[in-house]
Amino acid sequence: MIKAVRGMKDILPPETARWQQLETVARTVFACYGYQEIRLPLLERTELFSRSIGASTDIVEKEMYTFLDRHGESVTLRPEATASVVRAFIENRLDQGAEVKKFFTIGPMFRYERPQKGRYRQFHQINAEALGGEAPELDAEIILLLLDIFARLGLTAIELVINSLGCPRCRPAYLLELTALLARQVRDLCEDCQRRSASNPLRVFDCKSKVCQEMLAQVPTIADHLCDQCSWHDQRVRELLNRYGVPFRHNPRLVRGLDYYTRTAFEVVTTHLGAQDAVAGGGRYNGLVKELGGPDIPAVGFAIGEERLVALLSQQEVTTPAPPLVFVAVLGTAALDRGFDLVQTLRRQGCRAEMDFGQRSLKAQLTMANRRGAAYVLILGDQELAAGEAPLKNMASGAQQVVSLTDLTAIQAALGGKGA
Ligand code: AMP
Repeated sequence: MIKAVRGMKDILPPETARWQQLETVARTVFACYGYQEIRLPLLERTELFSRSIGASTDIVEKEMYTFLDRHGESVTLRPEATASVVRAFIENRLDQGAEVKKFFTIGPMFRYERPQKGRYRQFHQINAEALGGEAPELDAEIILLLLDIFARLGLTAIELVINSLGCPRCRPAYLLELTALLARQVRDLCEDCQRRSASNPLRVFDCKSKVCQEMLAQVPTIADHLCDQCSWHDQRVRELLNRYGVPFRHNPRLVRGLDYYTRTAFEVVTTHLGAQDAVAGGGRYNGLVKELGGPDIPAVGFAIGEERLVALLSQQEVTTPAPPLVFVAVLGTAALDRGFDLVQTLRRQGCRAEMDFGQRSLKAQLTMANRRGAAYVLILGDQELAAGEAPLKNMASGAQQVVSLTDLTAIQAALGGKGA
């Protein structure tokens, strides 16, 4: 037996219905906020990610699916979407005009992480990116958009955490101070953080080790080092969220795993998914478009992890496929042939209709209809074909009525007038 690659999983029914539902909801909300879909290649030049995400991030250091193609060019399966959106934005000259450009994209990402519950090597994200706007209203808007998606899905067990990571004006001074502090206590840090403390000091805040956490609780945060503009921007975002009654927690130790973030950074977390508690994350990335060779324009975005969202939704309610409205039970080959026609015709009218092709007994077919949760069963045999009418049984009440096989409208009316 050939098995799927480790860390990559099949998404099967009935769970696929949940995926469709959340993507449909996301698309509806994106339309309300003026975000347009963009579909991008899964494979990009490796350089795109090493330059954008940051050479000393976990993703670039050890998690990318990178290989040489047949011409010896280094290519990478995308570990995230923002870099690709920015690449496409620059390459296709999508920056024309003064207005903010808003895009969303949905699809798989690849990271060679250690697989565990909620962490896969192929996973899926819903991404939103708004390019060309500096205003804090845009940050607030994209957070409201994200929370609108969750609200429409009925998701309640979540918390929004936000922070500001400063900008190239104020962050370097803080990083110097932090690096010096960490250097003084480097022997108290875990092995990973010893390495990070020199190459990427902000990342130490993401460490799960208790010893590091305890030490970091004493360390000053970026919040006390923001320049006036960053501070104003941060206050305004929070003020807007408050105005819309959005509950959030300000965590001055929140950092992201990608280097390109400036100012606003946020995550949506839950206590219901164990260690992998982030359902979505995002923030502002003002320097990235320029860094990748485009115009100097600011931007902000987010990514929702679909696997985690599905897991969370499934905990809230059990997903079952919508049961058929009518099950057509058939006795004999002529009835099977006529039943097939009838089921197809009903389906084309938007009605959930089912049947079985196995020529089983009426009892077996009724059991099957019951198990599937069918509201009605239409019973078709040679006699019914000859008469041109057949009994339609209401499975809940047991009541039966005879319907004409040639009058589709009458059948639909008997089914409660429901199309679907
Ligand atoms: P990031 O691009 O790292 O900011 O991640 C954004 C979101 O993607 C996270 O909040 C998770 O919900 C999801 N995510 C990231 N990595 C994985 C993974 N390996 N497996 C499943 N979901 C992931």
